[in-house]
Amino acid sequence: MKLLVSNLILGLDDGRKELEILTAKKLKLKLQSVKNIKIVKQSVDARKKPGIRLVYSVSCEVLEGISIPNSPDVKILEQVQEEVLIPGNRQINGRPLIIGTGPSGIFCGLILAQNGYKPIVIERGGNVEERTKKVEHYWKCGELDTDTNVQFGEGGAGTFSDGKLTTRINDSRCDKVLQEYHRFGAPDEILYKAKPHIGTDILKNVVVNMRKEIERLGGTILFNTKAIDINIRDGKVCGVLTNTHSNIDTNVVVMAIGHSARDTFNMLYTRGVPFEQKPFSIGVRIEHPQSLINTVQYGAASGHPSLGAADYQLFHKQKERTTYSFCMCPGGLVVASASELNSIVTNGMSEYKRDRENANSALVVSVGPSDFESSHPLAGVEFQRKWEALAYKIGGSNGSAPIQRLEDFIYNRVGKIGSVKPSYTGKSQCADINNCLPNYVTSSMKESIGYFDKKLKGFGMGDALLTGVETRTSSPVRIPRNEFFECVSVEGLYPAGEGAGYAGGIVSAAVDGIKIAQQIIKTFAVPA
Ligand code: FAD
Repeated sequence: MKLLVSNLILGLDDGRKELEILTAKKLKLKLQSVKNIKIVKQSVDARKKPGIRLVYSVSCEVLEGISIPNSPDVKILEQVQEEVLIPGNRQINGRPLIIGTGPSGIFCGLILAQNGYKPIVIERGGNVEERTKKVEHYWKCGELDTDTNVQFGEGGAGTFSDGKLTTRINDSRCDKVLQEYHRFGAPDEILYKAKPHIGTDILKNVVVNMRKEIERLGGTILFNTKAIDINIRDGKVCGVLTNTHSNIDTNVVVMAIGHSARDTFNMLYTRGVPFEQKPFSIGVRIEHPQSLINTVQYGAASGHPSLGAADYQLFHKQKERTTYSFCMCPGGLVVASASELNSIVTNGMSEYKRDRENANSALVVSVGPSDFESSHPLAGVEFQRKWEALAYKIGGSNGSAPIQRLEDFIYNRVGKIGSVKPSYTGKSQCADINNCLPNYVTSSMKESIGYFDKKLKGFGMGDALLTGVETRTSSPVRIPRNEFFECVSVEGLYPAGEGAGYAGGIVSAAVDGIKIAQQIIKTFAVPA
C-alpha cells in the first residue's frame, strides 16, 4: 500500500535518517515496516525566527492492510492513470508545424514527437550555443541581434532566467513538466521543493537535451528560421512562409511565439487573425544586497546550507492599481533583455547556485487597456515601446540603461550609485527613472515602498538600486481561441503559450503547449 505522509517537521540540521524515523513515528510503525520513503514536497517554514523548520511530505510503502493512524497527515495514494490519448481521424497535410522553441513550443513538440507526429519546429533565433555568444556580445558591446537575443532563440524567453518553476495554475500537467525537465537534466530537487528553480546554467543543457530527443523521435528543428507570413484560405491555415524562403505546407500550425514577437503579431493581424488588448504590468528592476534579504527572511539561520539564498514576494493593492514584486531572482543578475533596436528592457536571471551579491526583482505596477493610447488591438505593444524608447533616451541614447538609487527616485533627482552596485549585464547610466515611466506608475511605486519596507525591513533602503524599464512582464495581447484551442476564425491555427495570452511563466507556458499537443493528437491521425 502506498501512502502520503505530510506535515513532517524537522530542524535545519536534520537529515534523511531523522526524516525516516519521523515518518515511521507518524505512522506508528517500526522503521523496518516503512519502505521506499521518497520526498514529495519540501518547504521552509520561516515564520518563527529563531526556529526555522523544514516541512516535508513523503510517499512510502507499507504492507497491504496494515493498520495506519486516522490522521489528516496520512493518506492512501491511489494509482493515477495517465490519460490515454486516442488519435483522431482528420488528416494532417504534411507535418504539424510549431513556431517557437520556448517552453510552450518545445513541450508541444515533445508530446507530438512522443506520439509519433514528427513535428517541424521553427525558431527565428539561433541554437543555445550561438545564442549564448550573441547575447554575451550584446551585453558587452551593445550590438543587438533582433532575432537572437534574451527573448528569442532556442529555449525561448526563459533560457536566460532564474528558471523558477513555480506557478499559480492548478493543472496535473505541471507534474509532467517537472518530470520532463528532470529527465532532461534538471536536479532531483525540482521534483519536491516547494519553490523549485533550475538556473540558467543548467536550463541551457536541459533545453538542448529536449531538442535532441525531439529529433531522435523523428521531429525536425530549424534555427534561424522565422515565420514571416501565413497562408490562410477559406478560414483554414494551409502553410507558413519563412525567411529562408521555404514555404511549409501544413494544415496544423502552433503559434508559440512568446510575448515579444511584435513583427509576427503585426503579420498575423494583417492576415486577419483576431487580437484583443490585455492588461500587464510595468516598472523597474530593484536590487538589494542578498545578505540583507537573507537576514530579514532567515535571521540567525541565514547562510545555512539547507536554506540557500532567500527570496521574497510583495504585493500592495492600491485604489486603482496593484504594485508588486515579480520574477524575483535571489543571488542573480539584472539582464539587458531588449529585442528591438534603440530600446531598453530589463529582466532578471540567476545561476543554479544563486550566489551573486545582489537580489533582484521586478517592482511593477498593473496597467491595462484604459492606459493605452488607442483601442487598436496592438496598442499595448505601442505602449511598451514608448517607455522602452524613453528609457533608451534618458540612458543617454547609447544603449545604457538608466539606473537610480531608490532615495533619488523618490525625490526625483539624479545622483550617484551608493553601496548597491549594479549587476546589470549591459552599460548603465545614472538618470531619473521618473522620466521614463508614466506618473501613475511611479507614484504607485513610491506609495508602496513604505508598505513593503514594513513587510521586509530594509526593502526601502535609500541605496537600493533601480534599473529601468521592465515592460515585458506578460503579453500585451490575447488571441481568442475556441474550445479546441484553435484561433476562433482560423481552423488549424493554434495560438499557444504566453504570447497568445494563455500563460505567464515557464511552467504554465509548457502546460499550454502540452494541452495543445494533446488536442492535436485527439483531432488528427498519426501521419503516415
Ligand atoms: P517564449 O519563451 O517567449 O518563446 C517564444 C519563441 O518563439 C522564442 O524563442 C522566439 O524566438 C520564437 N519566435 C517568435 N516569433 C517567431 C517567428 N516569427 N518565427 C519563428 N520563431 C519565432 N518565467 C518563469 O516561470 N520563471 C523564471 O524564472 C523566469 N525568468 C525569466 C527571465 C527572463 C530574462 C525572461 C525574458 C523571462 C523569464 N520568465 C520566467 C518568463 C518565461 O520565460 C516565459 O513566461 C516563457 O518563456 C514563455 O514561454 P513561451 O513558450 O510562451 O514563449
